[in-house]
This record gives sequence, structure tokens and C-alpha cells, in this order.
Amino acid sequence: MIILNKSASLKTGGLELRDKAIITLVNESEALKKVKNREEILWINKDKNEKNDFKVEGLTPEDIDDAEDRLSRFSEYIMKAFPETKKDKGLIESPLREIPLMKNTLNKNYRSKLEGKLFLKMDSHLPIAGSVKARGGIYEILKHTEDLALEKGLIKKDDSYEKLRDPEVRDFFSQYSIHVGSTGNLGLSIGIISAEIGYKVTVHMSADAKEWKKDLLRNYGVEVVEYTEDYGKAVEEGRKKSLEDPNSYFVDDENSKTLFLGYSVAAKRLKKQIKEQNIMVDKDHPLFVYIPCGVGGAPGGISYGLKVVFKENVHCFFVEPTESPCMLIGMESGLNNKISVQDIGLTGITDADGLAVGRPSGFVGNVMKNLLSGIFTIKDFKLYDYLRDLMNSENIFLEPSACATFEGPANLLNYNNGIEYIKSINLNSKMENATHIVWATGGRLVPEDVRKEYLKTHIKNK
Ligand SMILES: *Cc1c(COP(=O)(O)O)cnc(C)c1O
Repeated sequence: MIILNKSASLKTGGLELRDKAIITLVNESEALKKVKNREEILWINKDKNEKNDFKVEGLTPEDIDDAEDRLSRFSEYIMKAFPETKKDKGLIESPLREIPLMKNTLNKNYRSKLEGKLFLKMDSHLPIAGSVKARGGIYEILKHTEDLALEKGLIKKDDSYEKLRDPEVRDFFSQYSIHVGSTGNLGLSIGIISAEIGYKVTVHMSADAKEWKKDLLRNYGVEVVEYTEDYGKAVEEGRKKSLEDPNSYFVDDENSKTLFLGYSVAAKRLKKQIKEQNIMVDKDHPLFVYIPCGVGGAPGGISYGLKVVFKENVHCFFVEPTESPCMLIGMESGLNNKISVQDIGLTGITDADGLAVGRPSGFVGNVMKNLLSGIFTIKDFKLYDYLRDLMNSENIFLEPSACATFEGPANLLNYNNGIEYIKSINLNSKMENATHIVWATGGRLVPEDVRKEYLKTHIKNK
């Protein structure tokens, strides 16, 4: 039985999808048939085009430089406001760490046939917000703040932005408000930075959001509005509330190019770390990167940056839960944000709260069309297995959403189309030189009692 959320499709897309059209769509695609059946799959992107120049309409590599420069201008401010960033001189950055014991575990427990080296990019441990959202979310608020402050003559571009911490400047920002819809982590990141700058900030939380994330925000003086519906609803309501107030700014996770560019800076920083650790990336030393995907902004922005930096030598994969693979269905159908997981009968409900998104970003699918290698889907029970595996092998804790990333290296070579992909780009004999990076997207702020719960959670394999 197809459940079609007609009104939602109409509102966001203006394209009326009829039940029949969706049935045809699903029946004509082997991938969508499996996705509808909640099977785990590896979807390989047929539109990936290695010969292009990695340019995408509406985005340029200079946009990434511009975002990087803006973050530098704020480094003094960030260092003063968040002393935990001192060691990186006010840059919000995370370690890149080799995890050889986890590699052994994957090869042993999952017959992964993984060669080369396995690294963890620890955005789980980013300062301020403890998740990948500390990149895009904070960047967007800083950009908005700079725009306002320049316009009102509070600062000049070559000033030290420390000025923004003066009481009268904070007073100025208290006339302005920020709204954002979130499944949890984006709210944390936007809430914390906005409260620090002085804004009135309201976070609209979907039903998936964890209690401890809401509590933490309230402690920062952030207003938290709770919804019994999913992320799409929280965003819709947040947008509405923001429109009612002329002094309000809405962080639009579903469409924001600013968020996307904030994430993309990660690639330039990673390039430095790769060099420092003497990791080779070239035609004989391929780089594979796996990133959990919700609405698509974070994995899309990071991957766009990586393609600009490493070009055809980097292979980017997303990972999504079997119950909410919104980017996969958007890209496979070509409908992008004009289709939702509910349209094909999935619930969108998953233990991976950060990935519980039913409809993908309106523009990320398009940006990734020629750049993305593929998307893995993962069942919820495995999130906790990987969580324990990483704890037991490397003594590192990640939240369940972040653990989705391990599905990539664990199973790339257990799928026939994964093996074919490697062959098709002539990498068979080069896999022993490969570097695999799993992108850990969150976990540092998870309270001790919740960690303990996760470590003993077992879900039936259904
Ligand atoms: C938000 C989030 C993601 C995915 O980011 P999107 O921009 O929603 O695709 C992945 N992991 C965690 C832990 C997150 O919070």
C-alpha cells in the first residue's frame, strides 16, 4: 500500500505526484524496489562523471575560500567565547585519527576485505556542539552576524571581531531573533552560538530529538519548542514563526547554501591533516570517504569540498537508514526534494535521530548528481553493533547516527556493484594503497547514562 503525502509534495515541490506515478517509478527501478522493501543496498550513482571539471552550477571553489576566510575573521572571537578552541587558534576543527583495530574488527566480524588504512574524522568531538553541525550551523550564524554588524557599522572587516563580545554589541543583537528546525544536533549548534552572540533563539525540535539535547539547550537560555511530528514539520513551523517577526532570521537546513559552504571548508582543513600525516592521495592512492546523510547539507557540503580538493582521486559515499533513505530516493528518481520516503511507504522513523529526515534538501541532490559515488543503506540494529565495535576496539564513543558511517568500509566489497565500481575505475590493484575515512558526525556531548544505554541496546534484525 502506497502512502502518499500529497499536500507535502504540493507545498514544497509544486509537482503533483500521484499514487500511480509513484508505483510506476518504484517498479521501474531495481534500487527503489529494494528500498521500498527496507532491504539494505549499495546504490551506485550512474550519473557520476569523472571527466567534468567538478564545477557545479551556482557554486564555485571560491565560495569555499570565502567561507574559510570568514571563519578566520571570527577566530579571535571564537577563541575568546569558547576557550576549548584555543589549541586550534579559534578554528572549530577535529582530529583525523587512524583506527587500525576497528579495521581488524570489520575484517573479522563483517568479512569486509578492507585493505589500506582506515581513519576516523572525529567531528564527533568538534568543540562547541560535539557534532558535524558545529561546522555548518555555527558558520551560518557567524555569517548572518557579520552581515548585520557590517551593515549597522558595528565592525569593519579588518577589525578584531572580539568587539562583538562587548556588552553593548550583545545588547544590539538581543533585538534580533533566530529560528531553526532540527532533529537535535543542528539545534544544539545554532542554539549555543546564537545565545553566545546575544540573539533570542528558538529551536523547533522534531519528535526524534533526544531529551538531553533539549535540556542542554534550555540551560543555555534557548527556547525549545517540541513537536510530535517529524523534522519536516518542525522546519515548516520554524519557518512560519520566523516570518512573523521582521527581526528574525530563519536557518533553512532544507535549502541553505550558507550551511552547505560552512561544511565544505572541512575539505580544505582535511587536506592539511592528510599532508601532515603523510597520507598519499593520487591516482595510485585512492581516498574513500563515507558520511552519514540526513537532509544532505553536511555530507553534501563536505563531499563538494572534497571533490574540489581531491578531484577524481576521492570517492564519496553517503550512508542512510533503511527507513529514511531520502537522498537515495531523491537522486535515483531524479525528483530530489519532490519525493519523500513516506511517498514510497517508509516511515522515516529510525534510531539514527540525526538522519531521521523524510525529504532531502532541495539543492544538494543536484550538486551531487555528477560527483557522488554512491549511497549505502543500513538497518538500525547495526548502528549499535558498530557502536560497541568501536568502543571495544578503539575505546571511542560515537552516537548511533554517526555509527552509520561504518557500513561503508564494512560492506563496500561485499556488494557486487561495489566490486564492479572499483573495477570500473581501474582501482582493483590499488586498494592496498587506499585510505578510507569514516566521518564520525556526533557523540561527544552524549551524557554518561545515555551512553551506557546505547552500549547495551540490541534491536532485533528485522
Ligand atoms: C545532521 C547529522 C548528520 C547529517 O547531516 P545532514 O546535513 O542532515 O545530512 C549526520 N550525523 C549526525 C550525527 C547529524 O547530527
